[in-house]
Amino acid sequence: MPAGSCLCGAVRFEVAGELSQIELCHCVKCRKAYGAAFASTLYARIDDFRWLAGERSVATFDAPAESRPPAYRHCFCRTCGSPLPLVLEGLPLVELPAATFDDAIEARPRYHMFVAQKSEWLEIADSLERHHGPSPFSGKVLRTLL
Ligand SMILES: [Zn+2]
Ligand SMILES: [Zn+2]
Repeated sequence: MPAGSCLCGAVRFEVAGELSQIELCHCVKCRKAYGAAFASTLYARIDDFRWLAGERSVATFDAPAESRPPAYRHCFCRTCGSPLPLVLEGLPLVELPAATFDDAIEARPRYHMFVAQKSEWLEIADSLERHHGPSPFSGKVLRTLL
């Protein structure tokens, strides 16, 4: 079963069950939180997810909601700052940064979202679906991807 970890290795986790496909989010908050052109994340059922080490090193930051709740939540390692899995409120799912896995995973990128907010220096060169805002599947996508 695939395991992941942060840059310093203090925090480790594994997923026992199915992983969703990967979503690529270009929203401004993801760009800042992940320090990258876009966030590459995927989903697993919360029951399939387990911290192997360092759960107490996981810090949570809630960026204020802009128009309506919920706030944008970001989890990261207190020591090295790597993005880490976060439990989604109101859904039995955990969102995992795809690049933190140490083992190969079968999941592949499925679509780009919030393309309207993408970095002007990035040119999307693949043929994946592109959505200006959130994925049209919205909450449903989280369930259907699994
Ligand atoms: Zn760390
Ligand atoms: Zn985003």
